[in-house]
Amino acid sequence: MAGEMTLLVEDNEINRRLEKFLLRSEGYRVREAATAKEAFRVLETDRPDLILMDIQLPDVDGLEVTRKLKGDPATRDIPVVAVTSYAMKGDREKALAAGCVGFITKPIDKAAFVREIATYISHKEQLPDAG
Ligand code: MN
Repeated sequence: MAGEMTLLVEDNEINRRLEKFLLRSEGYRVREAATAKEAFRVLETDRPDLILMDIQLPDVDGLEVTRKLKGDPATRDIPVVAVTSYAMKGDREKALAAGCVGFITKPIDKAAFVREIATYISHKEQLPDAG
């Protein structure tokens, strides 16, 4: 794996900095957005291989953003992984129902984070119609 582009949608700067550090240390490129609006702006010009979606964003709920992405032919094939700090019973199911391929809880477990991201990106490569 080298150079795959990730889009990090996260409004908390400390979390964003940590996730960005981990992604870059694995060789991924990182685009950043602190709001849903910024995320859509990035997607106008960039085509990430994976999107990490904070569920609690200041403007639009991350699951709502995911549903929009999944409803748009231009973005529906990009895997979205939900990242949330309020993992309650049912949150994973809600994230999957919204179209997320996976679910990561905060605080970030660094080793698990890196491992999971690698899994989601390599799964994408195995899809027959990917790319
Ligand atoms: Mn947030």
